[in-house]
Amino acid sequence: MSGGASPGPTPSPGPIRTVCVVGSGGREHALAAVLARTAEVVVTPGNPGIGGTSPEGHRIRSVDTPPEEVEADLYVIGPEAPLVNGLADRLRAAGRLVFGPGADGARLEGSKAFMKELLAEAGVPTARFGVFTEVGPAVEFLRSLDGPWVVKTDGLAAGKGVLVTDTLAEAEADVAAKLSGDAFGAAGRRVVVEEGLVGPECSLLVLCDGERLAPLAPAQDFKRRDDGDLGPNTGGMGAYSPVPEVDAGLVDALVDEAVAPLVVALRARGIDYRGVLYAGLMLTPTGPKVLEFNVRFGDPETQVVLPRLEGDLCALLAEAAAGALVTTPRFRPDPAVCVVLASEGYPEHPRTGDRIAGLAEAAAVDGVTVFHAGTADDPDGSGVVTAGGRVLGVTALGPTLDEARTRAYAGVAAISWPGMQHRGDIARAAASGAGPDPTDTHVKAEAPR
Ligand code: AMP
Repeated sequence: MSGGASPGPTPSPGPIRTVCVVGSGGREHALAAVLARTAEVVVTPGNPGIGGTSPEGHRIRSVDTPPEEVEADLYVIGPEAPLVNGLADRLRAAGRLVFGPGADGARLEGSKAFMKELLAEAGVPTARFGVFTEVGPAVEFLRSLDGPWVVKTDGLAAGKGVLVTDTLAEAEADVAAKLSGDAFGAAGRRVVVEEGLVGPECSLLVLCDGERLAPLAPAQDFKRRDDGDLGPNTGGMGAYSPVPEVDAGLVDALVDEAVAPLVVALRARGIDYRGVLYAGLMLTPTGPKVLEFNVRFGDPETQVVLPRLEGDLCALLAEAAAGALVTTPRFRPDPAVCVVLASEGYPEHPRTGDRIAGLAEAAAVDGVTVFHAGTADDPDGSGVVTAGGRVLGVTALGPTLDEARTRAYAGVAAISWPGMQHRGDIARAAASGAGPDPTDTHVKAEAPR
């Protein structure tokens, strides 16, 4: 593919007085909270937790208005779906300053085959892979690999398109099911088959202005629902930042070896990528390897990375949006821990409509912020009810990882609703100095959102 859509004339990043954030989850709540240090923030559609006035005195609002109709100096698009669907292109065509890639760059997340081919072309370390539309060659390739085996749908598949398994027969059956179109429709008619990598995972979010890169602090998230990395895969049950093993030197090396070559490959295709590149990395015994790139801020990683940022997020994102990224993001040393509270039945059949108690008590705990993800106003009056699988992210900053953990769990203890679920071991291994929490990579499926 070549000749990606040009973003058109770039508005210069004048003063940012109002920011429009697109999305409704915990990621958008965290973005709004940190952007509101220096600007008014309008979130569309937002959620009941996103509102009020920041400590610095800037208004935060959730509105039902479509982003095209919100007047703002900067637009920040949270989730991948509107990016893949070209929202950034439409806003840029209307002369707006937008943080988020166009549909051409968002293809990185919309097609795993495209992403892997770009990584291979750019020489980025990643799992060995092949792209297939026929069962025979895919099975032959599977048999040439040592386990664990990984089978991914090429397209977005409602968060369920990745199988990681120790059993070759299961991988072979999965290839056939995906390619038949029965399991995932069109998204599965092309598959990426990969060697399974083993090691702790780490997420690195890197701002990009089309050319220049600025890494944010690394984070680790927790994908399985239950303690000890057991239970089903989820959209993320918690996170912490920084990751002690991923020091500044390793971050620089990852940017040089994994992210910069990708941006060169994007540019070679005419893609002017202005947004965040989220590298999902596995720290393997033979060095870090890229599992995937996403085209948006991670959730819940954002909830632990952005609160640690020092300075002006509006200016940083505006610089990247304008192709003029000159500021280096700086982070306070205080670690952050986020514990996700999920509804009964999550991830398979989340129950909604349960009344949430203790929000104010949790927010009163020293260092704690409660980010809303899946909440709604109680239709029967005041208060808030559950309205999704992942409901809240209780985030705490502290002078040490252990203290941040203690505070986050004190916040968690204040909150309750019938059937509330959370993990008790977020950041436990890292806080005790035992290194990054090991991630069991076996028999994983891609996280449901
Ligand atoms: P992806 O959407 O490609 O990141 O895959 C979702 C999850 O599956 C990742 O976060 C990993 O936990 C796991 N995964 C993906 N690819 C691999 C691989 N090659 N080896 C081991 N685990 C993987």
